[in-house]
Amino acid sequence: MSLAYPPLSSRLDGLQSSAIRDLLKLTARGDIISLAGGLPDPRLMPLDRIAAATEAALSERARLQYTESAGWGPLLEVLAGRESARLGRPVPVEEVFVTHGSQQALSLLAEVLLDPGALVVVEDPAYVGALQVFRAAGARIVAVPLDAEGMRVDVLSDLLARGERPALVHTVSNFHNPRGVTMSAQRRAGLAELAARHNFWVIEDDPYGELWFDRPVPDPVATYSRNVIRLSSASKILAPALRAGWMVAPAAVCRGVELLKQGADLCGSALTQQITADLLADTEWLAAHVNTVRSSYGERAKALVTELRTRFGDRIVSTDAAGGMFVWADFTDGTDTAALLPRAVEHGVAFVPGAAFAVSTDYRHSMRLCFTTDEPETLAEAVDRLHRAIG
Ligand code: PMP
Repeated sequence: MSLAYPPLSSRLDGLQSSAIRDLLKLTARGDIISLAGGLPDPRLMPLDRIAAATEAALSERARLQYTESAGWGPLLEVLAGRESARLGRPVPVEEVFVTHGSQQALSLLAEVLLDPGALVVVEDPAYVGALQVFRAAGARIVAVPLDAEGMRVDVLSDLLARGERPALVHTVSNFHNPRGVTMSAQRRAGLAELAARHNFWVIEDDPYGELWFDRPVPDPVATYSRNVIRLSSASKILAPALRAGWMVAPAAVCRGVELLKQGADLCGSALTQQITADLLADTEWLAAHVNTVRSSYGERAKALVTELRTRFGDRIVSTDAAGGMFVWADFTDGTDTAALLPRAVEHGVAFVPGAAFAVSTDYRHSMRLCFTTDEPETLAEAVDRLHRAIG
């Protein structure tokens, strides 16, 4: 008798774990320095402060109850205050919605904003978590390249001039994952202007904006148009385990997201939302904490970039890493990074080959290096191993 199960949905067709992802599982080995991960440093997560906030939250049993689908009221208030300051306009709580990390916001928004076959424009290289969501939603995906000033808005404009009509444009405006770059103020205004003129949504996916090293990032794209839905997250400034992300969107979009969230999980965790509210509301503590994260990451980023230049000279061109968590490096000597990865793993170092983020261009000679979890000496050792792996 056959043990075949009934079929799975056709939405899963074409969604698969990549060979690169499988290889990177190896990098959990203790002897490998992994610049592949993309994780914030657990040593910089505010454990004591989270413990104190947890204890406070557990002081009343009622606080372990289900909460509103849109989020725990006091957290919505804190977020509305933060976002009002960030966007330079009063943001009412009806325009704020808390999600299980900003990743859930992407997934719920895809359902609220996209019909199957809708055109979605992403950046190339792209945040893979967004690609996964848009592919699962059955969208038609078109990529616009990035340069040192972020999304090539002129290329988007050409696309529109050719008659393409996107329902949605996704951008990681600050310290792009994986490309490291930040969109210039002029391009932000340009993108918002196109969104208003051609009536499409923009998702401004911004988990890294606070992690600048020397100077703050330009005003959000969302300051220029109400067509822009802004996503932010506590993952990179506090801890991913809180699973606290949020969006600022027109109230009608928030209502749509609410209906879908009720089906997905009824509501987020009241417990971690209380902890998040407690920490975000303590603005003086938060400013000092974020400063510590910035200066540690800044030091590590500079060490990595300097080491790459010293070891590889002009064989590698890399981003400067002005913030965020990633350096993007291009080999100028034809090195194929997917082919290099197994050799690098043998030498005890890992990275993510550019191909993992590719949409239209293959990024065969590029790689993403994450500098957050290692001290400068370890990063120097990692670059040394990479150099030896190339031979
Ligand atoms: N957007 C981008 C660009 C990211 O890099 C990430 C995390 N890697 C997310 C969204 C999701 O983050 P979270 O769900 O933890 O808020």
